[in-house]
Amino acid sequence: MDADITIIGAGVVGLATASELADHTMSIYILEKNESHGRGISSRNSEVIHAGLYYPHGSLKAILCVEGRDLLYDTCHRHNIPHRRTGKLVIATAETEMVNLEHLMANAQRNGVASLSLLEKKQFSELEPNIRGAGALYSPDTGILNVHALMDYYLHDAKTKGTEIVYGTQVVGIERNSAGYRIDTLNREGEYFSFDTERVINAAGLESDTIAKMTGKEYHLHYCKGDYFSIDNMKKGIVQRLVYPLPEENHVGLGVHLTLDLQGRMKLGPDATYMERREDYRVDAAKSGQFYEAAVKFLPFIRREDIVPDMSGIRPKLQGEGEGFRDFVISEDLPGFVNLVGIESPGLTTAPAIAKYVKRLLTN
Ligand SMILES: Cc1cc2nc3c(=O)[nH]c(=O)nc-3n(C[C@H](O)[C@H](O)[C@H](O)COP(=O)(O)OP(=O)(O)OC[C@H]3O[C@@H](n4cnc5c(N)ncnc54)[C@H](O)[C@@H]3O)c2cc1C
Repeated sequence: MDADITIIGAGVVGLATASELADHTMSIYILEKNESHGRGISSRNSEVIHAGLYYPHGSLKAILCVEGRDLLYDTCHRHNIPHRRTGKLVIATAETEMVNLEHLMANAQRNGVASLSLLEKKQFSELEPNIRGAGALYSPDTGILNVHALMDYYLHDAKTKGTEIVYGTQVVGIERNSAGYRIDTLNREGEYFSFDTERVINAAGLESDTIAKMTGKEYHLHYCKGDYFSIDNMKKGIVQRLVYPLPEENHVGLGVHLTLDLQGRMKLGPDATYMERREDYRVDAAKSGQFYEAAVKFLPFIRREDIVPDMSGIRPKLQGEGEGFRDFVISEDLPGFVNLVGIESPGLTTAPAIAKYVKRLLTN
């Protein structure tokens, strides 16, 4: 097998990129170490279509979030991918926090997020009578989707345009050669197989720095875990929108918030805890008190016994513990070799915009 383009990783980013690039004229292969697509970060997140409120102006996260959000709604609409424009409230729990909401709104508007409004207590209580706070920033363009249906769509689209996907195949080595790159793989039977490819897109999520290192390019990812607790289903329907506190100052996480799925089930999370570099998805039940304390400030209907450990996900962060904001890396570090590193939140929202960005890089 020789390829024009090899995409490493079948998460939402690799699949969106395959769907964007595939056009019957090129041989495109997606290599995935797992037995099916979407088993990495893409299956362990909040499934929120972010509007683009938080990210520093001019950053890739800010630009691609606004672009990706619109592309996602359009794709969901055209291809019947379950989604809902729920809207979202960011809550100031005290009067003194109102100024922070104003700053957040100003940042969002500079990023091109339209239709935001600052609501006083009385106004947001009309929208969400069961939420407590001094005021809120309302973002009507935030929503939720079924990420698995989205990934299935991207894969189907890429395959119908000639892309092949190979599962159970881990990339273990990369070497530059006259064809472009020699890719060494190891399959589930323990067999090695190598092939040549002209171009490579590294969309390996939590292992994207390891892949980059195979070509001599140094990045260092820090794993930062986000745990979720689910809220008793008896409370289903009590809140209609996503509800967030003000974000953490250094952009590590968005603060423990209330997410909804398409069935209206409610979850709290994710928090943000740096961890050793391993894929350990156990949720620490002892955190239940912390989650309760964080949430009850703006979700007064929650009782301690309503919340139980649910799932977790791991963020691939370029930002180390205690460090400041780091942007996505989307970079053609060697000719025809594009690294996508640090694709943490809002990586799902931005996936279709990242795909277009990669296409521009490869065609310029
Ligand atoms: C807790 C949490 C909540 C989040 N919430 C949101 C949200 O609400 N909205 C949002 O926009 N974003 C959110 N995100 C971010 C979003 O989920 C990610 O940015 C996105 O899913 C990353 O997709 P990916 O394709 O880059 O990575 P992945 O989905 O991890 O895909 C990478 C793939 O590469 C494969 N791979 C790795 N190494 C190799 C190798 N050597 N050979 C072959 N294959 C390999 C892996 O098996 C994996 O399938 C959240 C993230 C977390 C952790």
